[in-house]
Amino acid sequence: MKIPFLDLQAGYLEIKEEVDAAVARVLQSGRYVQGAEVEDFETEFATYCSSKYAITVANGLDAIHLTLRALEIGPGDEVIVPSNTFIATWLAVSHCGATVVPVEPDLRTYNIEAETIERAITAKTKAIIPVHLYGTPANIGAINNLANGRGIRVIEDAAQAHGARYKGERIGAHSDCVAWSFYPGKNLGALGDGGAVTTDDLNLANRLRALRNYGSSEKYVHEIVGFNSRLDPIQAAVLRVKLKVLDDWNGRRRKLAAFYLSGLSDAELVLPEIPSWVEPVWHIFPVRTKNRDKLRSDLLQQGIETLIHYPIPPHRQNAYRSAKIAAHQFPAAEEIASTILSLPIGPQMRHEEAETVIKAVRMACDLA
Ligand SMILES: *Cc1c(COP(=O)(O)O)cnc(C)c1O
Repeated sequence: MKIPFLDLQAGYLEIKEEVDAAVARVLQSGRYVQGAEVEDFETEFATYCSSKYAITVANGLDAIHLTLRALEIGPGDEVIVPSNTFIATWLAVSHCGATVVPVEPDLRTYNIEAETIERAITAKTKAIIPVHLYGTPANIGAINNLANGRGIRVIEDAAQAHGARYKGERIGAHSDCVAWSFYPGKNLGALGDGGAVTTDDLNLANRLRALRNYGSSEKYVHEIVGFNSRLDPIQAAVLRVKLKVLDDWNGRRRKLAAFYLSGLSDAELVLPEIPSWVEPVWHIFPVRTKNRDKLRSDLLQQGIETLIHYPIPPHRQNAYRSAKIAAHQFPAAEEIASTILSLPIGPQMRHEEAETVIKAVRMACDLA
């Protein structure tokens, strides 16, 4: 038996009829960029997040990048980011010419915390980008308290956390703005690239709408130096279908995660710790062990596919070689990169498959 890390094809097949009909509707419409399909998804996603506005863009990296631009953050400014995250969080800051200031995460929740962030704040700090890593919300209440009153903006990177809840409410409207990715493997994934920003700030929403569309709000009139970063109507139509099943599919991930947590509770593994005030959506189920590489190859031998999020931390990447940041030490990010392993999890994964994974992990840990 082969157990894939995530079976995207099975996800499509489960809702094939609705997805095919949605795509056909766009093909028939004659409208292939912007238009009603995109606007309808924006309305539905804003409603889902309890935010006033959702502005779709081409991908998650652009969602963060264009937001920083809309907030006029640039050279000379500092932006606080986690030392352990997907590199896009950093790239967005670098593309604006601002400086990334990495902060180490907590090694149990994998998220950055207000106390550590506070120590990294300087007179140049303009924004903080907490990432809801692996699908578990960061403590955005504490982070917003820290930022408010100091003129620091909070941009949540929610690329891994669609539908997750913080103190009972879905994330998407707690901070100045929230950036989303609809990359196929995310909890709410398109059949290609996509992204969005949710916000209650009308000025920010208008600036983002102009920035994504050549700096224009009226055809052939250009107020600012903009980009072409739009969500395709085909992807919007697919996302409207997938938004309807998101909570159900997140619920299935939650059941599998609970099964993993109980089935592996006595193994010599560091399991993720979930604060009582969050409801994660288990984009990833991470475990940590000193014997990571051996565990990974043992599982692969039994047909179980795992991944590492992430094998090389951003500060060690060649992309950041020349940045002064590379000279700093980030032991938590290093520790995570060398010990973390993501077990298979996804809405179409069956209970028996998770059972097989648990057995195999227990065997590898000499617990069988
Ligand atoms: C996926 C991801 C992004 C980037 O999204 P893309 O749509 O792939 O550009 C940004 N941040 C995090 C944490 C992500 O996981």
